[in-house]
Amino acid sequence: MSSRRVLIVGAGLAGSLLAVYLARAGWQVEVVERRSDPRARRFAAGRSINLAISARGIKALRRAGLEDAVMKDAIRMGGRMVHPVEGAAGYQPYSADPTRAINSVSRSALNLALLDAAAAEPNVTVRFDERCASVDFAKGEVAFVNDATGASRTASADLVVGADGAYSAVRGALQKTERFDYSQEFLGHGYKELHIPPVATGPHAPFAMEPNALHIWPRGESMMIALPNPDGSFTCTLFWRHDGAGSSFAAVKSGADALAHFRKVYPDAVPLMPTLAEDFERNPVGSMVTVRCSPWTRGRVALIGDAAHAIVPFYGQGANASFEDCEALVDALATAPSVEEALKAYERARIANANAIADMALRNFIEMRDLTGRASFKWKKKIEHALNRIMPATFVPLYDLVSFSTVPYSEAKARGAGNDRAIRRVAVVAFGIAVAVVAIAMVALVRGAAS
Ligand SMILES: Cc1cc2nc3c(=O)[nH]c(=O)nc-3n(C[C@H](O)[C@H](O)[C@H](O)COP(=O)(O)OP(=O)(O)OC[C@H]3O[C@@H](n4cnc5c(N)ncnc54)[C@H](O)[C@@H]3O)c2cc1C
Repeated sequence: MSSRRVLIVGAGLAGSLLAVYLARAGWQVEVVERRSDPRARRFAAGRSINLAISARGIKALRRAGLEDAVMKDAIRMGGRMVHPVEGAAGYQPYSADPTRAINSVSRSALNLALLDAAAAEPNVTVRFDERCASVDFAKGEVAFVNDATGASRTASADLVVGADGAYSAVRGALQKTERFDYSQEFLGHGYKELHIPPVATGPHAPFAMEPNALHIWPRGESMMIALPNPDGSFTCTLFWRHDGAGSSFAAVKSGADALAHFRKVYPDAVPLMPTLAEDFERNPVGSMVTVRCSPWTRGRVALIGDAAHAIVPFYGQGANASFEDCEALVDALATAPSVEEALKAYERARIANANAIADMALRNFIEMRDLTGRASFKWKKKIEHALNRIMPATFVPLYDLVSFSTVPYSEAKARGAGNDRAIRRVAVVAFGIAVAVVAIAMVALVRGAAS
């Protein structure tokens, strides 16, 4: 067994999964996390924050033997339930295949399952309350600080992985090195989490609404979504502009203002949200950022997950993509002759894919907040699903490629663009046929009238 040592900075979703993989591949693993140990708060009551896991994430969890443990509490979401301002909500399936669904899972339960699995490996050490403060790339050395006690130490390893999230300190250190390309783009929208509690009665009790759907209230420039939790509640996320008038966090500040605004803009949600005013006032506004950078590796140091590619959450793919990174890195380390060559192979396999899902996630915001409420969008989805039923091998809709397959993101993006061209051709041909039919009918009418 190899005695190679890896130091993973960050025990979030990607860092914990990578620890499991590398420990089982024979590495001595040290994971260092800035926060305190979440296992100490395991049974603390609190509201669920969830995220959607789909094919890529499930594949990576299966590889770690964690699919059943995580998916047993997941709630399937087979489509979007779109809530207009007036009238009944309408269901739009995600796929022509009704067995396909994305899955709502608790973020903290997922992190705990991964952390438990990592800590159960005899060759893994996890240390909490230590923040990565700096990285020495030449020595492969990381300096950590305990902010509560002021204690500091350095650690080194054969491989250092920055799995420390969107505001990564490891990436921050890379930014100070030469020829490191970096861009960071904040969205003009922020987000705030709200809550729909379980109900005692009703057609979906304990759920207040259909549980097997991702609920969307598309409102053009803004939207609210809601994902179900196993206890019957929903976690709602409001995506509003930071600034400006109307639906913005600058314009609607107090709980009372929020209630009044919701009565106009999300009227069917208000009776389901008894703590709306308090939640709105109490819960913070989060920012969303797209981070692109290159290279992801320098010497024996690599970035993974959000540290390498923070993306906006509108395709539900950030964690899924991070899990794919873990698979790609461990595969490269298993086959390449040296750590340095493995890291180069890993970044070659992943950077273009990360940029592709970053682009698609930004575009999906417009689809979710605006297009899902339009008749043209519903027709486009119907045509896509019909073409997929007729030609399942050649026409696969983009949503299916991203969420229900493990086709590389860059290939999915290119095939999605091809699909759009094919649909435009279908629309032109259908329009041509319709015009021809109308013309023939008119000619027949004129002839009939003349004879
Ligand atoms: C509102 C929202 C909704 C989302 N919904 C989805 C979804 O539905 N599906 C999906 O796939 N993805 C979703 N995502 C994205 C997903 O949360 C991230 O992609 C995922 O958490 C990335 O995992 P990570 O391990 O790279 O980073 P993180 O999970 O952020 O973990 C990073 C870890 O590093 C630690 N850390 C940070 N700095 C340091 C330091 N200096 N030293 C030591 N440790 C440090 C942190 O404390 C943390 O534990 C969503 C994101 C947001 C914001």
